[in-house]
Amino acid sequence: VKSKIAKLEKMEVVSQLAASISHEVRNPLTVVKGFIDLLKAPNLSQEVREQYFQHVVRELKSAETIISDYLAYAKPATEDIGIILIDREIRSIIEMTKPLANMNSVKISEELVPGITRGNIQHFKQCFLNLIKNSIEAMPNGGELSLVTLVSKFDIIIEISDNGVGMSREQINRFGEPYYSTKEKGTGLGSMVVVKTIETMNGKIKINSVLNKGTTIRITLPIYTS
Ligand code: ADP
Ligand code: MG
Repeated sequence: VKSKIAKLEKMEVVSQLAASISHEVRNPLTVVKGFIDLLKAPNLSQEVREQYFQHVVRELKSAETIISDYLAYAKPATEDIGIILIDREIRSIIEMTKPLANMNSVKISEELVPGITRGNIQHFKQCFLNLIKNSIEAMPNGGELSLVTLVSKFDIIIEISDNGVGMSREQINRFGEPYYSTKEKGTGLGSMVVVKTIETMNGKIKINSVLNKGTTIRITLPIYTS
């Protein structure tokens, strides 16, 4: 019964969030529609036209960010639980984020030992994608992102470290709170997905951060043994 209630509560949270996300995405789309209508007008100067286009692109980007931070939770079939080869999945996420890392002059280093856990692979990928994205975004002028895994008897530890802007006490405390973001174009949904995913996987999150020095996020997950 207890787990049934927990499941219902979780579903409620997810559906509430889905509703508010679609609301959030609708706003930029409405703005886009407005500018496209404006672009229909004859005799627009090249300069004004250019401005309208910029607004359209900006709003579409904002809708895209909202969706991409939340993608795993918006998808159906969220109950699929399977075996996750952590090192392999993290390597594939690193490959995915390389273009973004290159754009920010971020060097990625990895020290990954094999480790297996159980969970929803889609959620796992989205979770680590969001963590890696945050680290890269924390180093707009370049830096180093390191991914390390350690295996002990019962747990797998995954450490994501950057030498970026760092986090204040408030930022650390509010990590996971939906819509809390210190970024101009942030959604504050990335960390919510991280916290929910790790919670569901019976894992733990620990943040160590020093302002202007960098951040290390340590995730502990139960090891899977057959
Ligand atoms: P977003 O990235 O859209 O702002 P997130 O939920 O992913 O939202 O992150 C919430 C906030 O946590 C960020 O706005 C930022 O202030 C802080 N944060 C998360 N990860 C890091 C990091 N690696 N370095 C510095 N700040 C971080
Ligand atoms: Mg983020």
